[in-house]
Amino acid sequence: MKKLTRKKKQQLRRNIILVAAAGIVAAALLGMVLSVTGFIYNRYFAKHPVVAYDKIRVEQPEITEDFLTTNPNSRPGTKLKYVKGIVIHYTANPGTGAKANRDYFESRKDQEEISSNKVSSHFVIGLKGEIVQCIPLDEIAYASNDRNSDTISIECCHPRKNGKFNRKTYHALIRLCAWLCDRYEIESPDDIIRHYDVTGKLCPLYYVKHSDKWKKLREDIWNKVLDSQYKS
Ligand SMILES: [Zn+2]
Repeated sequence: MKKLTRKKKQQLRRNIILVAAAGIVAAALLGMVLSVTGFIYNRYFAKHPVVAYDKIRVEQPEITEDFLTTNPNSRPGTKLKYVKGIVIHYTANPGTGAKANRDYFESRKDQEEISSNKVSSHFVIGLKGEIVQCIPLDEIAYASNDRNSDTISIECCHPRKNGKFNRKTYHALIRLCAWLCDRYEIESPDDIIRHYDVTGKLCPLYYVKHSDKWKKLREDIWNKVLDSQYKS
């Protein structure tokens, strides 16, 4: 009788352990499935419309609106329905300022309508840190190829051929990007990308050639986003 009870107890204990183990495995599997589904949804399907202004925590930098004339080569007027990322570029035109680059986009309107003439970006940041906006945020720009339809583009001016941004341009870029990330509820620094990450083009040159500087730039932007969120 005693022996049988012990046996039963052992069996019961074994069953409990088995059920508990099965429960843990099932929970882990469910967790994995949920996080993979969440990741895929956020990365590929989630849409981030413009959020209400009063929810934005990162202070908006000073922006001069100087919109291009609507034209097929630089401001097609196509609606940008949602934003999943920010694409950073360099002008590849050393020493030129924001206004000159904006005017270059504007001059495209008088050119023949062919793909090589299609060029623009939402913002241009100049050598003094001035930010000029060329395209309204609810329209697409012609800067980032396959990602024109779901990103905001920023062109940065640079003093020399190597494409390194000067201090003023760099800081204005951090502030502008952080504000945009907050405004569009960008959830990961992975969604701040280079033109290079879209097409393999060497743009922005210096930050393609120096991946450590790119990493730092992205970190600086993300820290600014997080700082503002903790403060509020
Ligand atoms: Zn580019």
